[in-house]
Amino acid sequence: MNALDTDLVVIGAGPGGEALATGAAKAGLAVVVVDRHLVGGECPYYGCIPTKMMVRAGDAVAEVRRASTLSGDASIDTSWKPVARRIDEDATTGWDDTIAVDRLVDAGATVHHGVARLAGTGRVTVEVQGGETVTYAARRGVVLNPGTRPAVPPVEGLAGTPYWTNRDAVQATELPSALVVVGGGPIGCELAQVFARFGVRVTIVQHGPRLLPADEPEAAELLAQVFAEEGIRVLAGVELTEVSYADGGYALALDTGEELTADQLLVAAGRKPNLDDLGLETVGLDPDARTIQVDEHLRAGEKLWVIGDVTGHGAFTHVSMYQSAVAQRDVLGEQGAPARYHAVPHVTFTDPEVGGVGLTEQAARDAGLGVRTGSARLEQSSRGFTHGPGGHGLIKVVEDADRGVLVGATAVGPAGGEILGFLAVAVHAEVPVDTLRTMIYAYPTFHRAIETALGDLS
Ligand SMILES: Cc1cc2nc3c(=O)[nH]c(=O)nc-3n(C[C@H](O)[C@H](O)[C@H](O)COP(=O)(O)OP(=O)(O)OC[C@H]3O[C@@H](n4cnc5c(N)ncnc54)[C@H](O)[C@@H]3O)c2cc1C
Repeated sequence: MNALDTDLVVIGAGPGGEALATGAAKAGLAVVVVDRHLVGGECPYYGCIPTKMMVRAGDAVAEVRRASTLSGDASIDTSWKPVARRIDEDATTGWDDTIAVDRLVDAGATVHHGVARLAGTGRVTVEVQGGETVTYAARRGVVLNPGTRPAVPPVEGLAGTPYWTNRDAVQATELPSALVVVGGGPIGCELAQVFARFGVRVTIVQHGPRLLPADEPEAAELLAQVFAEEGIRVLAGVELTEVSYADGGYALALDTGEELTADQLLVAAGRKPNLDDLGLETVGLDPDARTIQVDEHLRAGEKLWVIGDVTGHGAFTHVSMYQSAVAQRDVLGEQGAPARYHAVPHVTFTDPEVGGVGLTEQAARDAGLGVRTGSARLEQSSRGFTHGPGGHGLIKVVEDADRGVLVGATAVGPAGGEILGFLAVAVHAEVPVDTLRTMIYAYPTFHRAIETALGDLS
């Protein structure tokens, strides 16, 4: 088949792919962008943005409830309608990507909605939605940004039931009365707390021993306490073994012998990389792999760059965007700093927020470092004390004692994700702990607990 010549083909327009395509097109390259669903990817339509609108709504409910302790009687008659309206109208414009497509076209790119597959080095075949198939030969090469989709565990009876994933949860216009959430990672925890605050009876079934397995155990323990206080039932170390659905209700069998009932089931049990139908075998890569290995310029082979969740360097929008900038420079032949991942931050937007950067204590020990840790509780700080209800949290710092620098840190608290910014700078720039100890921390702030945690290093 004759191929159309172009400079660059971007397969998958997640946040990084969209940004790279825009930058390359503005720099004068002929760029073709292909997305099989919505330009912008998971984050703006089904991930970060709608879920953070939900979190904001849930936090407002919690603050009203706390107001009676702080400011006098306050009550709230919660309604999901404003949440659903904001997500539909303000965040996703009805799950329509016209604005994003127009932005790319204005930048000079050609945009196809369709399925793209590699067809050898620098070649891409596109099944354009609506029928025709086009093959492109890309002079500079191809950028893959295919992202992930919800992983669905092989539980007997689950397939064929109308269970929710994050995609359904953000489109909900009515809430169930009882919800079981399978998975206690960041997505499961955020959504569980939001729905519970709107009156849904929520149970989390987590097969691992605790919530938020990628975070420090202290953070997970604190969150589990908060969830218990808010009436969220957490079953950790428990496997869902069988699902049945009839007349709008679920019956869920657990390996403990207990049976749960619910009128909705949310599967938030991890993500599956979209690598299986991408033609990876035509360029010598394994389509069954969970991640694609990339070098520090995001190259994965001849004329091939890969960015985003599928690189395995953190499934976060900020990683996708960071990699996009590094790969874009390489595509354009510009000099620039290579990608480094020693200070990748992440935030779970529960209340309290759970933020982490760099290595956990265990990961640092596993890496063979001489580790010292220090921690401090926010509720024991002046700010936590004055804050009252909801003012709990913790700071934990992980030091490479041989070098005298932080290699990891955790900030849990009402503004844990914001406090994390300070710690991310410290880990990223390898600021000596001695320097951090001699600076002045504003009083009374939550971040002042960092000074206490540094003083606790032992
Ligand atoms: C519920 C939820 C909440 C989240 N919250 C946060 C958060 O608060 N902060 C944060 O940093 N991250 C968050 N994330 C993660 C974030 O959404 C992703 O890390 C982010 O979207 C970056 O992913 P990506 O760039 O790899 O690609 P994606 O955003 O997954 O986009 C990939 C695109 O590729 C397309 N595609 C795939 N295969 C093909 C093909 N063969 N042909 C054409 N197109 C194809 C897909 O249609 C999709 O549009 C959240 C995720 C979820 C699910």
